[in-house]
Amino acid sequence: MYNIKEIVADLELDIKILIKQAVFNVFKAENLMKTVTALIDKELQPVKDKQVKDRVKKSLIKFTIKQWKTICHSLHLGEPLLLIGLAIHNRKTPVTDLQKKSLQVAVNKSINMTIKTNANAINNTLSNLADSYPTTKIAHQPLDSQVEMWQRHEDQEQMVDRLKQQTDLVIVSSHANCSARCAKWQGKVLSLSNKSGMTTDGKTIYPLKQATDVFVTTKAGRTWKNGLLGFNCRHKLIPYKPGMRQPHVSEAQRKHEYAIELKQREFERQIRKCKTDGKLLEGAEAQKQRLKAKQLTLEYQKFCVDNGRAFYKSRIVI
Ligand SMILES: [Zn+2]
Repeated sequence: MYNIKEIVADLELDIKILIKQAVFNVFKAENLMKTVTALIDKELQPVKDKQVKDRVKKSLIKFTIKQWKTICHSLHLGEPLLLIGLAIHNRKTPVTDLQKKSLQVAVNKSINMTIKTNANAINNTLSNLADSYPTTKIAHQPLDSQVEMWQRHEDQEQMVDRLKQQTDLVIVSSHANCSARCAKWQGKVLSLSNKSGMTTDGKTIYPLKQATDVFVTTKAGRTWKNGLLGFNCRHKLIPYKPGMRQPHVSEAQRKHEYAIELKQREFERQIRKCKTDGKLLEGAEAQKQRLKAKQLTLEYQKFCVDNGRAFYKSRIVI
């Protein structure tokens, strides 16, 4: 089972490393877009949903272009290198070897000059590159949270398919940090084949689609299916047996649980950022970030244990 979120996080880091190499080498810059595209295609191979695949690819290409432009501008590497790195597949006039050689000389010269005029310029630029996680946005939402949402959605569709093979009646799980959208369905009995009626122990049976097929239209005029099991929903469907109940969650408990969850996400973001900086920066600064990542990981682990929560190793891997 693949995890789109992890694939994208790895790809963002790999792309940044390719960009870093291309800054110092004209020949690598020339193939930057080709290398990045090939890498994206290779890593996205396991993703089955074509729409998701296309959107992720498109936003990663955008991400690369933006990073490359920022780096070229902040190091004053000039228009020729900028354009060479942006050439995607069919550049109209191929750059000759002689042009490349003189461009490399110019790049070396401007990097040397940057080092001389401002010793921190290169490190600042690399630091900007490290800080830019996550910069890719689709529909005003950071890419990493968007892919997590897609992943969850796909997992849920698979869950319904699996359940259909073994049962018709299911009960909706309840969890403390539930959204208002789903709250009314917690603990309710649903029929996967969309029947309605009454269970043998007197509970109402609702058709699955009544809970899931809720359509909302955004301000921009796009319509989304956003009911139970919609994007960002973490509810599970459990095969129903007479007498089964789900725990009731009070509002105070819901708020408390939600605060713990936010703190976990904050730890995870900080750890990923320190790890990324540790790979992109140089020397003592990189060492400092790696150490900070280790300390934060220990704190995060302790926080999870203290609050009886699962420690998500996959969320802090870069
Ligand atoms: Zn839900």
